Amino acid sequence: MVKPRKIPMRMCVGCREMKPKKELLRVVRSPQGEVSLDPTGKKAGRGAYVCYSPDCLHRALKQRQLDRALETKLEEAANEQLTATMQRLLQTKEESL
Ligand SMILES: [Zn+2]
Repeated sequence: MVKPRKIPMRMCVGCREMKPKKELLRVVRSPQGEVSLDPTGKKAGRGAYVCYSPDCLHRALKQRQLDRALETKLEEAANEQLTATMQRLLQTKEESL
């Protein structure tokens, strides 16, 4: 028996497109209420997904989609931190290619 290959899909909270989960970046709100990016996808907490794109992250923050998805209220400082982390991740990604 061959199992049908099913790719888990998730929606980006920025552009609201469905994409394979592994192409998206997980954003997680920890049980302590701290919001961070989770490239491993393994952190505990409530998660949302966004493309590896500062544009999508920016849009998700600006339209408060991330707040809604994570049931929290992000402060300006948290927004800046997420954006900075995203940029760092993108840089690391490029270097590893
Ligand atoms: Zn997107």
